[in-house]
Amino acid sequence: MSKMGFFSNLFKKKDKKKDAAPAAAPAAAPAAAGASSMGGSIYAETDANQPIPGYVPGLGAPEGGKIKLAIYWAAACGGCDVSVLDSDEKVLNVGAMADIVMWPVAADGKEKDIEEMEDGSITVSLINGAVRNAENEHMVRLLRQKSQLVVAYGSCACFGGTPALANLIPGGSKEVLDYVYNQTPTSKAFCEAYPDKPHVPQTEIDVPEGHLTLPTLYNRVKSLDQVIDVDYYVPGCPPTQETLGQLLDAVVAFVYKGVALPPKGTHIGVTKRTLCEECPRHKENKRLDEIKEPYQVNIDPDKCLMDQGILCLGAATVGGCGAKCTRVGQPCRGCYGPTDKVTEHGASVFTAVASLFPILEEDPTCKEDKIIDIMSSIKDPLGYFYAYTMSKALIARSVKEGGQ
Ligand code: SF4
Ligand code: SF4
Ligand code: SF4
Repeated sequence: MSKMGFFSNLFKKKDKKKDAAPAAAPAAAPAAAGASSMGGSIYAETDANQPIPGYVPGLGAPEGGKIKLAIYWAAACGGCDVSVLDSDEKVLNVGAMADIVMWPVAADGKEKDIEEMEDGSITVSLINGAVRNAENEHMVRLLRQKSQLVVAYGSCACFGGTPALANLIPGGSKEVLDYVYNQTPTSKAFCEAYPDKPHVPQTEIDVPEGHLTLPTLYNRVKSLDQVIDVDYYVPGCPPTQETLGQLLDAVVAFVYKGVALPPKGTHIGVTKRTLCEECPRHKENKRLDEIKEPYQVNIDPDKCLMDQGILCLGAATVGGCGAKCTRVGQPCRGCYGPTDKVTEHGASVFTAVASLFPILEEDPTCKEDKIIDIMSSIKDPLGYFYAYTMSKALIARSVKEGGQ
């Protein structure tokens, strides 16, 4: 049976039992593209300021029971999980609307518990982190099988995020492991103290207590949708609590009230414009003669950071965060990813920067040396331009040829 057929059959089942309180959360199905327009909110067809009928935040379960929620971290820093916990008393709302069947950072659901569940019995899985090793891959495939909806939660899951910068290491996982376990000062001390022990973790090893295994580290770090089918994306490093609230409210509204879900593939909590358009700083598009670090500038609180020589990625990044960083004097690093018109965030950033090179109508001969000077002042251009989106880059990874 096709996936959509599976969803629609479950949906029909829900209709038949419409008046009965469901023992388990009924099925959710993303609307077909175009069935519900998102704009910047999943409430494009409803009023985001009105509570969902039957659900009063903080006062208990939605009418008819709770949805089933899994939260999982793959190759992640933990910040996305903390963003859920960090919502103060609002985290209780999550518990009020959902039975949490797995959340390694906060709850006790184990892999075997998930394996024993029926396929499709989890209403929604929020997966944060990139896919970097065999365990990540196994778990996200398992959650896909057991879930009606899968959400890529956070920039690492959406685009590869910071873990995907490892794709720029030419020697792949071997070079990463060698550096971490043989080259760093603390590792060197261990290697010297225990020269006969294996220093790089083994994927399989026999010890007196038994046979131990570790997941294989992959050469290439992938975004979630490069491994499994993803229904929705929530970008941000980490996403805002408001966006998480919108997402869960929408799932509850669909499951219990039949409110249409947004089209599959929607990026939730983003606008259709660039971050510059929601940034309060005044922009003059001054020519860029030199690029400076924020600490080198006595930052004017009202002027565009690019106009002050600080590399800000707002012009190539989609809006939605409310310009959190630029409001406090820090440049945008692009964690929300590109706008929907762009697939190559890094190239888009480079174009935005290059458009400010001092190539003037009256003197269209900006010398190549000058451009090289400006670009050389960016300490790590690839790392800066692809800080969050390396898994999605057309240059999939760097390689060494002939030792170079
Ligand atoms: S998106 Fe940011 S906060 Fe979330 S896991 Fe990745 S690095 Fe951490
Ligand atoms: S480049 Fe950055 S600081 Fe300037 S307007 Fe855009 S987001 Fe704001
Ligand atoms: S300003 Fe840029 S880096 Fe900061 S939260 Fe917004 S999108 Fe992310």
